[in-house]
Amino acid sequence: MTNAPDSMPQRPNGEAPPAPRPASAHSHSFATRAVHIGSEPEFSRSGGVSAVLDLSTTYKQTKVGVHSGFEYSRSSNPTRLALERSLASLEGGDVRLSENLANEGIEEFSGAWEGGPAGVAFSSGSAATATVIQAIVGHGGHMISVGDVYGGTSRYQTKVAGPLQDAGCTYVDMSYSTKADGGKVRTEEQQDQVILDRIEQAIRPETKLIWAESPTNPMLSLVPIQLIAKLAKKHGVYLVIDNTFASPYLQQPLSLGADVVVASSTKYLGGHSDVVGGLVVTPNPALLTRIRFFQNAHGAVPSPFDSMLLLRSIKTLPLRVREHSRNGLAVARWLEEVGIPSGLVRDVRYPGLKRKQESPAQRRERHLAWDQLSADAKKWLSREGHELEAEGGFPDGGMVSFHINSPSPASQTDSQTAETFLESLEVFTLAESLGGVESLAELPLKMTHGGVDPARRTELGIDGELIRLSVGVEDVDDLLHDLQQAFKKAIPSSA
Ligand code: PLP
Repeated sequence: MTNAPDSMPQRPNGEAPPAPRPASAHSHSFATRAVHIGSEPEFSRSGGVSAVLDLSTTYKQTKVGVHSGFEYSRSSNPTRLALERSLASLEGGDVRLSENLANEGIEEFSGAWEGGPAGVAFSSGSAATATVIQAIVGHGGHMISVGDVYGGTSRYQTKVAGPLQDAGCTYVDMSYSTKADGGKVRTEEQQDQVILDRIEQAIRPETKLIWAESPTNPMLSLVPIQLIAKLAKKHGVYLVIDNTFASPYLQQPLSLGADVVVASSTKYLGGHSDVVGGLVVTPNPALLTRIRFFQNAHGAVPSPFDSMLLLRSIKTLPLRVREHSRNGLAVARWLEEVGIPSGLVRDVRYPGLKRKQESPAQRRERHLAWDQLSADAKKWLSREGHELEAEGGFPDGGMVSFHINSPSPASQTDSQTAETFLESLEVFTLAESLGGVESLAELPLKMTHGGVDPARRTELGIDGELIRLSVGVEDVDDLLHDLQQAFKKAIPSSA
């Protein structure tokens, strides 16, 4: 019982702990792990089925330097460790429920079982991002980033890592559906080669990592993770995927070859817009040690309360993401089937959307969206009768972007029609962020991506007409009605 966390069962009469239960040969599915991992009754003295909320900042030592494995809460806290164990199981795969946890030490408790991936929790997604870039790129290194990246990540890459770490960052378009290849019809191999060439041209001797999001924010482009993982390995650089938009229920980048997953748990993992958090999961032991060292040195850790809120939210992650995805597809289809023919909108973006008129790049992207779905998500979709080639598409998350058609052509500064639309919404809330149960809508130009270099915004298509929706779990009829009434106010000729 050396290193046993304090919240594990203690045996006052000194009797030996129970023999470990044999590990079950059965691998548990995502939804089962989401409910149980991190909340195993073996962790609680009472046998409670929820993780223990341990608010202690410090822990008793029985002799100088002899402690339960916990010394000081910034360095290690039982509730946070339970969360880290859960995060590792969501992003990293199977953690056996039947392991006898009381016989394990802290490393196993936090998820590093049999050399598998382990999780590290942070006080925000931004803290997780900064830590990973510092730990991997260090001083004088170089990184390659997907161009269409979250504005806060690009702010850290260019305005913090650049001047303070002397780190270079090259932005590269890593998607199929862009203007960069001139929209020419190509074979799949040629389409792949275009992306590989763009990345390879940016690689330098000091390049340490490739950073990508898939789907990207706010254009919802898909990035071919497996393809880029092979290229990263060939050049000896790490591939880091920000999995915030997909959530681990829909996509598990480590299984596609990524070295590190980061995410803002403020979004789908938290799911109720009431906790800010971040995570890192990696199977690489050297990186893990470094990232844990930085976590303790920086001290940007989530509080026990936030850790507990996240653990509670994670139990319903699959349920919520399925409903977000059903509603997301319904909204995207309505925009495509009603909004485009009536001239209200153009360029509807949703990873699973199957358009009536689909370009080769759009088709490739939809196929990639399907291929990158986790095994559990595919199991759910096939159980509900969804398939890759279904008319209208398949549910794949709650994020939808589109351009509203203003009467006069929009520019970087002209966003009047979009703003009237956003301010007329009654069920959708005009707000930044995403992934909560309530539907949100925003103008990336002036909100989430206001700090991005204007030239890069123009290149990406982030203008005064681009609107991003985070579709929640309300009744879908109410959501569609809300969009319709807001369009009537923003574009009176459509009424
Ligand atoms: N990554 C992505 C894709 C995001 O959208 C965000 C926030 O919106 C972050 C990282 C940063 O996360 P946080 O706001 O929790 O710091």
